[in-house]
Amino acid sequence: MLMSTNTNENNILHIGFDDTDSKFGRCTTHLAFKLVSYLNKKDVKFLDYPLLIRLNPNIPWKTRGNGAVCLRIIMTKDNNSENIFDFIKNEIEKNSAIGKGANPGLVCLQSKEIPNEIKEFNRLAMFDILSKQKATKIAQKYNLKYVGFGNGQGLVGAMAAIGCLLTSDHTFEILAYRKIKSCGTSRIIDPINVMRLHDATFPSTFNSYDHINKRILILPHGSDPVFCGIRGEDPQVLYNSLKILNIKEELEGYMIYRSNQGTGMHLQNELKFSMIKSFTAGYSRCIIVTNPQVIQGGHVLFIVEDDSKNTCWAAVYEPTGLTKIASQLHRGDQIEIGFGVRKATSKHPKVLNIEYIFIHQLVQIYNTVNPICKDCRKRMKSEGKNKGYQCKKCKRIDKTNKKISLLKTRLIKEGLYIPTLKAHRHLTKPLHRYGKEKTKFFESGNVKLYPKWFEKFR
Ligand SMILES: [Zn+2]
Repeated sequence: MLMSTNTNENNILHIGFDDTDSKFGRCTTHLAFKLVSYLNKKDVKFLDYPLLIRLNPNIPWKTRGNGAVCLRIIMTKDNNSENIFDFIKNEIEKNSAIGKGANPGLVCLQSKEIPNEIKEFNRLAMFDILSKQKATKIAQKYNLKYVGFGNGQGLVGAMAAIGCLLTSDHTFEILAYRKIKSCGTSRIIDPINVMRLHDATFPSTFNSYDHINKRILILPHGSDPVFCGIRGEDPQVLYNSLKILNIKEELEGYMIYRSNQGTGMHLQNELKFSMIKSFTAGYSRCIIVTNPQVIQGGHVLFIVEDDSKNTCWAAVYEPTGLTKIASQLHRGDQIEIGFGVRKATSKHPKVLNIEYIFIHQLVQIYNTVNPICKDCRKRMKSEGKNKGYQCKKCKRIDKTNKKISLLKTRLIKEGLYIPTLKAHRHLTKPLHRYGKEKTKFFESGNVKLYPKWFEKFR
């Protein structure tokens, strides 16, 4: 166990934790719910909604969803960071599956300002791979209290969550929690209410119902303590949406998180193919240099070249629903792609796993065909290289005639293509959010919380 116990005098506390997954799954947010219940009794003031931060989704050792949580509070006389730290530490020890795959991390920063180095740590954690050693070094440098369990990898997410301010684009999610006795039983919900919720509130809520595949998207699976999660743009709408569902099960309560879900935040860095590392994420403006080939399973592969003339394989997988578009791409097309980098193996090189395609410019393609006989209007036959053409019908030979080029109609249009709803990851930005990103400066201290952002039922 790694541990330190430094403090400084200031009453603002930033609490980050990650990878506290237990056998109930998805427990990092449930721990957050418990912790907020505890802090509410202590009469602390919340500076921001609890933040639910999804980090680089391509990291192979991530917990499911790779979500970390940050709470920012002002402490009152009745509480101190020691007590809060110990409370969380005990909860993690009690509830996490330490040694069974969970490697929780907890970091507390007691300071008004968040050091730039921690913000930078977050920026990198969105698309790169960071070590717990780096997190520990920063924790020591700025006198943070921290504890890592298991292999301590959770310290990375915990530190990154503290450094994440979400000052521009963000979304919200309301999570409703089940009583422990209900965990493991099936979640009963009337699909009609989910459709009503979607139809009444979209796009202020999103990814709640998939009309095309007739799928409910707000219910997690498994023995999770989360009953449902509704994503959206506005806390009040989310609160009302939960009411629309008219859930019959007795719940433990609910909490509204501010989040980077649905923002595409992991793809914001331009990556050069020459520097590309396995498991990183980003985007590139590039040109297609080999025509797409459809391989077994319906996946589509092609080679792209960036503006430094470096090339890389790119793949569009069948479940994304983008293969129809991708297979119609052509050598010379100019595109932008968002991707995660798949590690090279003995069988294949590094591959860019495509998460979106923006087609900037489609190249004009020509089909070359033999010329037409002037007399019969029939297609002529080649007599061999540079030997001219002969009409099949009237047998007339024309030695000077040449092949003609016909402009081929492209079956796809320029524009943005993102995966089908059922293939969305937590960070995938839904189509309707493009151009509607929040830009308003939204900093801790300036956040006016919706009064019903948290409730624990009796
Ligand atoms: Zn002819």
